[in-house]
Amino acid sequence: MTYENRDIIVDVSDIKFCVGPCNSKKEELEPIIINNNYIYIFKPNDGGRYKEYIYKLDNNHSIILKNARMCCSCNSRYLEFIEENYIEGIIKDGEIIRQKLKI
Ligand SMILES: [Zn+2]
Repeated sequence: MTYENRDIIVDVSDIKFCVGPCNSKKEELEPIIINNNYIYIFKPNDGGRYKEYIYKLDNNHSIILKNARMCCSCNSRYLEFIEENYIEGIIKDGEIIRQKLKI
């Protein structure tokens, strides 16, 4: 974990469960194979990692999750909140994630 400009930056590459605000800490299941392609359950479905998710904690601080994978519902929730600019929701989720990941 590093701090930069008062943001909390966490590399979550090693975390096997969804790092989003859902209450599941179950490890991601093995991918299914369709036509020789591996389809992963979490997003991104190709098994890669998103560069970062940024959750505001308040007006001056954010928590930045680097190299993250999330379950489908946490990922769509994040994208919806960003699209609707629903800051209050993002802040709440950021707080939940801090507790979930013990940051
Ligand atoms: Zn989730």
